Amino acid sequence: VSTKLVIGNWKMHGGLRSNEVLLNALVDGMKSMPPGLKVGVCVPFPYLAQANALLAGSRVEWGVQDLSSHHEGAYTGEVSAVMAADFGTRYAIVGHSERREYHREGAILVAEKAERALEAGLTPIVCVGETAEEREYAFTERVLSAQLSAVLDRLSVEQAASMVLAYEPVWAIGSGTSAGVDDVRDVHAFLRGQLAAKGEAVGRIPVLYGGSLKPENAAALFAVPNVDGGLVGGASLSADKFLPICEAG
Ligand code: 13P
Repeated sequence: VSTKLVIGNWKMHGGLRSNEVLLNALVDGMKSMPPGLKVGVCVPFPYLAQANALLAGSRVEWGVQDLSSHHEGAYTGEVSAVMAADFGTRYAIVGHSERREYHREGAILVAEKAERALEAGLTPIVCVGETAEEREYAFTERVLSAQLSAVLDRLSVEQAASMVLAYEPVWAIGSGTSAGVDDVRDVHAFLRGQLAAKGEAVGRIPVLYGGSLKPENAAALFAVPNVDGGLVGGASLSADKFLPICEAG
């Protein structure tokens, strides 16, 4: 019996036809996966309805990659957590480094998004991670602590106990090389301690690793203490890669 959670983040990839092939393959592949293992895919907003139609009743859950920090109103181009929930959505990635970097999302905004997700009954997957430069200057723990505490300070203990945390070192994302198991062990232990300080139940939430996960390194990373699964980018775009990663959980 597995206790792992493996989430695919498609980022800005996909199309109606290719999604159908991929999603059907995932539904099929999940039939022979260990009980307890949880798998989800976070799709671009336009494909939420398709995910809902093809995945409902299967072992594959679905989610979004971002959310508005607002409830509703005159916010052109935004998508609310409640709208996502209308389509059976389970997960919402918030604070991905690509949003922090390319869309200038700050720690408070990310915390508000996590809060909107929880209010709508979605599970926020809160991403934290340091850049190569921050690591070089030994700022890793300071950066992670600031990113995480902004979220924990905003949420009630009960809300925080319902979230998922993902450690995604920015320098490992899309690089082809994941963080090493020693670094992942240290960081996840640190994050576990930060979570536990908010309460026992918060200390038990899933903490995922993300950054160049692939079939070749998934088992080793999933075996690291305090790693409860993975957040998979590039390798989640093909069933041939994503299913073996899920199986490693
Ligand atoms: P890659 O798996 O492509 O490195 O991306 C990781 C990621 O950013 C998932 O959110």
